[in-house]
Amino acid sequence: CGIVGYVGAQSALDVVIAGLKRLEYRGYDSAGVAVVADGELAATKKAGKLVNLEKQLVSHPLPPGSTGLGHTRWATHGGPTDANAHPHLDNTGRVAVVHNGIIENFAALRAELEDRGHRLDSETDTEVTAHLLAEEFDAAGDLAEAMRRVCRRLEGAFTLVAVHADVPDTVVGARRNSPLVVGVGEGENFLASDVAAFIAHTRSAIELGQDQVVELRRDGVTVTRFDGSPADVRAYHVDWDASA
Ligand code: GLU
Repeated sequence: CGIVGYVGAQSALDVVIAGLKRLEYRGYDSAGVAVVADGELAATKKAGKLVNLEKQLVSHPLPPGSTGLGHTRWATHGGPTDANAHPHLDNTGRVAVVHNGIIENFAALRAELEDRGHRLDSETDTEVTAHLLAEEFDAAGDLAEAMRRVCRRLEGAFTLVAVHADVPDTVVGARRNSPLVVGVGEGENFLASDVAAFIAHTRSAIELGQDQVVELRRDGVTVTRFDGSPADVRAYHVDWDASA
């Protein structure tokens, strides 16, 4: 439902939680966050309102990190439980993915992954993407390329945002039939399902087009099509009232 990603110099957790609050009006049944800190990934997720997640983060703090992502979920596949909340991790715990939309062919992908020995921990259509992304990253050595390879295998509607512990200053995103916007800052960049999540930080935005992947670093943004070719990007200034 709501997606926020961040890479920069601020606390990723603070930016992501504040961004998710700006998207709260859309409604959701669970929420979660992941940060990459010192080459390690840490994630927390909780059924219910954001306040439940925030309480969990007080009693079980995540290590401080300046790369991260978060999600508020509107369940379509699997009930609104802690296990089904996003982010979803692969079995090594080094990849975290959040997703809006529906992966239509998840059942076939899940069976294929289970045949290869993966253990899936949720009932969601989303979780397959974390496992596939981990495999493709091992093969490609590049997170954006791994994301493009995964997206070429997916059917349905999706916004995906992911981080990998092995590339600590990178966030990747992808979209098909579901919105994803980049917020361009100075020494920091943002990803969100809606500009409302980052307009407190920047009014400079790039709207991702259909079937595109974005790689976000502190100092740059690269957009490609699912086939790897460079994408035309539409940069614009968000000029509506931030208090609206
Ligand atoms: N289909 C996914 C799920 O049920 C994503 C739902 C959403 O868009 O929040 O977990």
